[in-house]
Amino acid sequence: MAITGLPGGRAASVPLMGHETEPTMFELSVVGRSAAQLRTTGVPTRPLADMVGAAHVKREPVALADLSERDLVGHFTRLSHRQFSVDLGAYPLGSCTMKYNPKFCDAVAADPALNGVHPGAPSTLTQGWLELLVDLEEKLCAITGMAAATLQPAAGAAGELTGLLLMRAYHASRGEDRRRVIIPDSAHGTNPASVTLGGYEVTTVPSNERGLVDLEALRGALGPDVAGIMLTNPNTVGLFEEEITEIATAVHDAGGLLYYDGANLNAIVGVVRPGDMGFDIVHMNLHKTFATPHGGGGPGAGPVAVSVRLADFLPGPKATRLSDGTYDWVAPAKSIGRVHGWHGNAMVLARALAYIDVHGGDGLTRVAQHAVLNANWLRRRLADTLPAAYDRPCMHEAVLSATALKAATGVRGLDVAKALLDEGFHSPTVYFPLIVDEALMFEPTETESPQTLEALAQAVERIVARADTEADELHHAPHHTPVSRVDEARAARHLIATEDAATR
Ligand SMILES: *Cc1c(COP(=O)(O)O)cnc(C)c1O
Repeated sequence: MAITGLPGGRAASVPLMGHETEPTMFELSVVGRSAAQLRTTGVPTRPLADMVGAAHVKREPVALADLSERDLVGHFTRLSHRQFSVDLGAYPLGSCTMKYNPKFCDAVAADPALNGVHPGAPSTLTQGWLELLVDLEEKLCAITGMAAATLQPAAGAAGELTGLLLMRAYHASRGEDRRRVIIPDSAHGTNPASVTLGGYEVTTVPSNERGLVDLEALRGALGPDVAGIMLTNPNTVGLFEEEITEIATAVHDAGGLLYYDGANLNAIVGVVRPGDMGFDIVHMNLHKTFATPHGGGGPGAGPVAVSVRLADFLPGPKATRLSDGTYDWVAPAKSIGRVHGWHGNAMVLARALAYIDVHGGDGLTRVAQHAVLNANWLRRRLADTLPAAYDRPCMHEAVLSATALKAATGVRGLDVAKALLDEGFHSPTVYFPLIVDEALMFEPTETESPQTLEALAQAVERIVARADTEADELHHAPHHTPVSRVDEARAARHLIATEDAATR
């Protein structure tokens, strides 16, 4: 068996040991096999039972796979060849900011001085870690224009819930019972989900014909029962909310707070700050803007930064610099409590700080500028192939529409996105935001070169040119990936996420 058509357009051949799909570790297991291990260190050891008590020692062996190092490395290397990654090529998945993660950030996180520390170790022994966390908090506050931050939330959506709980605590402290949170109709699905989870009701405001929040509709929706508004700027159509100061004034005048969904921070980092736009609460997706690993269910990080009036409510305990210059864990005065078992996904935080530090000076500004430049270049380059949903300069992502293509040939945006996999590129985001028909949202990010963008544009052109004569083939694309078109609804409804080792 061989896999062909790997990303980058190169055919590759990876032996799969007679299996159509890669077997699980348990299928590869052979009793008694193990990896190389140093068995004697010369240090006298005591029996485990003496140290932890006999009751805590397992009597039955744990059902783990027995693999040699060679089996194990082969297994994971083959798996890594069966999927697309940011290391393989352009990954223009809009809204997600899937940019290349520089390897030096991993080198920082691989330092045993950082990753060898237990999160429960006393603060007297972990001054360096606490200093790192305080340093990151201060830099994130400087970047967003806020006063204080929590590093605990595990991702953007966790940050959203944290932000809504902060909103609730703030209003409650003033004796106000506000029930509604306003969200524009272009919002990411996590926004209304977080509002509901936070115990609030969602009020949706429509976008105007320019793809921006309709200010009059917003004013009409405001009232004494509104706790706040959740916005991202640039918004999910990739456009900057030009009336953001008017929006902020209207919401504040009604006694509400402004929540900034920081998923699109890559468009403005180092250029403008949410705090200066009037936002009170900001989450950041470190795995998007600050190039830490993203996706596959791995750990992200969604720190939440707030303005002065909300700082006392932040989750705790927080790494804090004391007046004598040492560090300790301190809970803010009116803290809403913990939102994470420990202090957040620490190795992601360390990577993000490394990324920020290496981009010192105007480096972060150039990140945003090049991200915006790349998106606009692609938007213009593809104007005759797939027109933009709104014909004006965009920020870091270009929302194109396949409406005309579908009407003329029956080939949908989804087909174009899937066919791009055969061309060696990851698909763009499709059918989001919901307010754009046949949406294809390309976010090239700043890490792609002009040559890669040109190759991507040519790949889109090739696919669209095939729509007239090869529509059926495109409906079933991709054809050269290890797995072809999947039934996504079935995958979500009949998720099999565990391997029953006991049956092996
Ligand atoms: C990614 C994203 C989120 C959610 O962030 P996660 O880190 O994936 O939980 C929220 N809003 C927008 C606009 C996003 O793109």
